[in-house]
Amino acid sequence: MVNKQIGINRDSPKELLHPYCINFFHFVNDGLVIIDLSKGPFGQFIEVNDVFCSMLGYTHDELIGLSPIDITPEDLYHNARQFIDRQKSGTDRKIIREITFLSKNGRRVPTELSSHVVKLNGRLIGFGIHHDITKRKKFEQDLILSYEKELQLRQELQNQIHQRIEFARGLVHEIKTSFTPILCNSKVLTKIVTDETAILLTQNIFRAASNLNNRVDEHFDLIRSEVGILNLEYDWINPSSVLNEVVSEFKSRTLLNKNLFRTYISPDLPPLWADADRIRQIVLNLLDNASKFTAEGAEIIMRVYCRESKLYIHVEDNGTGIPHSEKEKIFQSYYRSKANPTKAGGLGLGLALCKYLIELHGGTIKIEDNKPSGSIFKLFIPYTKHENL
Ligand code: ADP
Repeated sequence: MVNKQIGINRDSPKELLHPYCINFFHFVNDGLVIIDLSKGPFGQFIEVNDVFCSMLGYTHDELIGLSPIDITPEDLYHNARQFIDRQKSGTDRKIIREITFLSKNGRRVPTELSSHVVKLNGRLIGFGIHHDITKRKKFEQDLILSYEKELQLRQELQNQIHQRIEFARGLVHEIKTSFTPILCNSKVLTKIVTDETAILLTQNIFRAASNLNNRVDEHFDLIRSEVGILNLEYDWINPSSVLNEVVSEFKSRTLLNKNLFRTYISPDLPPLWADADRIRQIVLNLLDNASKFTAEGAEIIMRVYCRESKLYIHVEDNGTGIPHSEKEKIFQSYYRSKANPTKAGGLGLGLALCKYLIELHGGTIKIEDNKPSGSIFKLFIPYTKHENL
C-alpha cells in the first residue's frame, strides 16, 4: 500500500507522495519533513511544509538539501548525530522525542518530533512531524525558575525561623535564669514569714514572678506554635485525675478572689490520649480568665463530661461577658477585649495558645453567652485518634 503511494524510484517528493498526502502535508498545523537518510552523512531534507519553513524562518528552497545537523545548535550536534545514526541503524525507527533547531535568525526552536523511518528500495526515508513546543518549554522554564525561587525563599525563611527560635530560646533562658531565684525564694518566704505586711509583700513578689514566668512560657510556646514546632507529649491520661489536680491548683491560687467555684466532673471518664500538661495549661487558663474577668465573689462553674466519644469541658462565669463581635477575635494572639480594658490580664496570648493546643488534640473551642451575664467557654477533645497524634 505504502509502495503504491510513494514513487520510490524518484527523487522528487511531489512525485514521491500520493496527491492526497500532498494536500495533507501542506494543510496541517505542524511542521512536516521528509528526509532521505541515505544522502550525505546525516541525511538531507527532500521535502518540508510551509509550517516547518515559517517555524525556522527559512524558505522552502533554502531548507531542501540541508541536513538536520545544518540547522542544529552547535551544543546539540553530538546528540543529533547520535540520534540520526540510531535511526539509520534501525534502533530508533519509530520515535517521539524533543529536537531543537536553530532558526535562520539564531533563535532556538524546540520541537517535539514524531518520526518514522521506512526503507524504500534501499533508501532510508524518514517522515517527521515537528510540533513547536516553544511556549511549553518557556512555561516549563518559568516553572523551574519559580520553583527554584520558591526553594531559595523557603531556605531563607527557614534560616530566619531558625534564628528567631534560637534568639527566643536564648532570651527565655536568660530571663528564667535571672528570676527563678526570685520565684523560688519568694515561695519559701511566703511560708516562713509571720509578719502580716511581710506575708503580703512576699505573696505579691511570688505572684508577680509566677505571672512573669507564665508570660515567658506563653511567648515561647507562641513562637513555637507559629513555626509549627510546638510538639506535644501524648499519653493515655486519666482526665478526672488531671482535672481534679487543676481544680486544686486553681483553688489554692484564687483564694484571695473568694470566687464561688463549683465543679461537676463526671466520674469514670474514659482514658484520653492527650498531653496532660497541656490539658492543665488550657483549663487553668480558662479558669484564671473566669476569675480575672469577674468581680469578687462571682461564680465560676466547671463541667466535664463525655458524650459521643468526646470529652467536653465547659468553664462558665457570670462576669463581664464577651461581645458577639469579639467572640472569634478573642482567640487571636495579643487580642484583648474592649469590653473589659481596665481589668487585670496578660498579653492576650492565653486563649490563642488554648485554641492552638486544643486543635493539636483534634478538638475545638467556642464561646457562648451565659445567662444572665458572663461567658461559657466550651471545648471538646475527641476520644478517637486524629491526624495530629
Ligand atoms: P490574657 O488573659 O492574658 O489577656 P487571653 O488570651 O487569655 O489573654 O484572653 C484574651 C482576652 O479575652 C482577655 O484580655 C479578656 O479581654 C478576654 N477574656 C478572656 N476570658 C474572658 C472571660 N472569661 N470573660 C471576659 N473576658 C474574657
